[in-house]
Amino acid sequence: MSARLSTVATATSVTSASAAASDGACRTAAPLPVLGRDVTVPLVTGGEVTYAALDYAASAPALQRVWDDVAAYAPYYGSVHRGAGYLSQLSTDLFESSRTTVHRFLGCREADQVVFTRSTTDSLNLLAAALPAGCRVFVFETEHHAALLPWQDADVTYLDAPRTTGEAVRTLEAALADRAPFGPALVCVTGASNVTGELWPVRELAAAAHAHGARIVLDAAQLAPHHPVSVRDLDIDWVAFSGHKLYAPFGSGVLAGRADWLQAAEPYLAGGGASRTVARRPDGGVDVEWHTTAARHEAGSPNVIGAYAIASACKALTDAGFDALVARERQLTEQLRAGLAEVPEVRVLSLFGEGAARVGVLSFVVEGWNSSHFAAALSAEYGIGVRDGLFCAHPLVRTLLGSDPAETGECGAPDAAAGERSLNAIRVSFGAGTPDEHIERFLRAVKELVREGARWDYRTENGRCVPVV
Ligand code: PLP
Repeated sequence: MSARLSTVATATSVTSASAAASDGACRTAAPLPVLGRDVTVPLVTGGEVTYAALDYAASAPALQRVWDDVAAYAPYYGSVHRGAGYLSQLSTDLFESSRTTVHRFLGCREADQVVFTRSTTDSLNLLAAALPAGCRVFVFETEHHAALLPWQDADVTYLDAPRTTGEAVRTLEAALADRAPFGPALVCVTGASNVTGELWPVRELAAAAHAHGARIVLDAAQLAPHHPVSVRDLDIDWVAFSGHKLYAPFGSGVLAGRADWLQAAEPYLAGGGASRTVARRPDGGVDVEWHTTAARHEAGSPNVIGAYAIASACKALTDAGFDALVARERQLTEQLRAGLAEVPEVRVLSLFGEGAARVGVLSFVVEGWNSSHFAAALSAEYGIGVRDGLFCAHPLVRTLLGSDPAETGECGAPDAAAGERSLNAIRVSFGAGTPDEHIERFLRAVKELVREGARWDYRTENGRCVPVV
């Protein structure tokens, strides 16, 4: 089969990019080609500009190479697993080899399993459903809701926001010591904050968890697209991420790590693919023998294209040279921070302070501006797509803003004299496909808006600020 697959794959270039890639030939510090880089959008003030996508933390554009790989495979798409036909076998092979690629990309231990899911949210809910009975969970209040909320049925301890990475480790250690001795326990932590972009001390937190007999899952939704992640080096038990933030927006995510809890748990979804054999019992019921591989939690027809797209993105990032990508992103981050520091009205949100290591994600508020208004003006007048709000991390953003859940606001600027504060923030985020010009345009736009105000009128519609047309 593999000889036949490689014939087709070579003909379609499905694997040719990977072969070229594995010799590490194409190292670059330039932005990687992404879809949509030439798309133009209308400005409310007239004319068009190329769209500056600065909302990578929500969803990153597809890498051109991912798109090309998927397009090359698409005609060969077939049902996976039990299909007898040629294309079914090819697709099965591609699906399983994608698993191997992700395993390698994440630096997994040999026995670790890679489960394809729909997203990070799905991955963490899968792990939550697989917790052993009586499992305790420890999670910082600063997490994205995807990492904060799945543990509601467990004995969960929410930890206060730390103000340094050292305090994060000490807070976790104290909580673990306080609640010891315990049976199974899990710590859930992000690698990089989706609000501040700041890196969390994952290795140290893993050591603290393990020292107290707990396990740890890393939410790498924001880390994996920007930084190499090694399960083995970080000594973590599981890692979760989403394809659509890793330049592979085809509806797949990953949970990778230790097999034991996953294989001891009931399948996440009951159905075909997860079951090895099913038989009627003499008493009229049904006996099921479930798989003990990753398939146990992948019931139903798997998203082959989604899995393949993730594998393609993993290869593309590896081949581009993660060191070069990280170095370039660091330069752009410094340029962004330096530019914003020149605007006294801008306050950048930070948990760990000035010297913290960070990825290309930054949130801020502008004195005298409603954040939704500011973001709407960036879009309508400059063609820049950022995000405003609480970024599915309500407790963290409210802690950083000093705001209250009961407060609500309209499109108009908060009245500082009346003691009004920003109730939400603006987030700018970028990555491997971002050209320098997008950061430069963004800084120019921020300075101009702060100096001269918006050139257009805006109003509140369904809770959002929109230009008056
Ligand atoms: N974790 C973090 C840190 C995130 O930023 C996000 C999404 O923004 C998620 C988890 C959830 O990812 P998804 O929506 O792909 O499930």
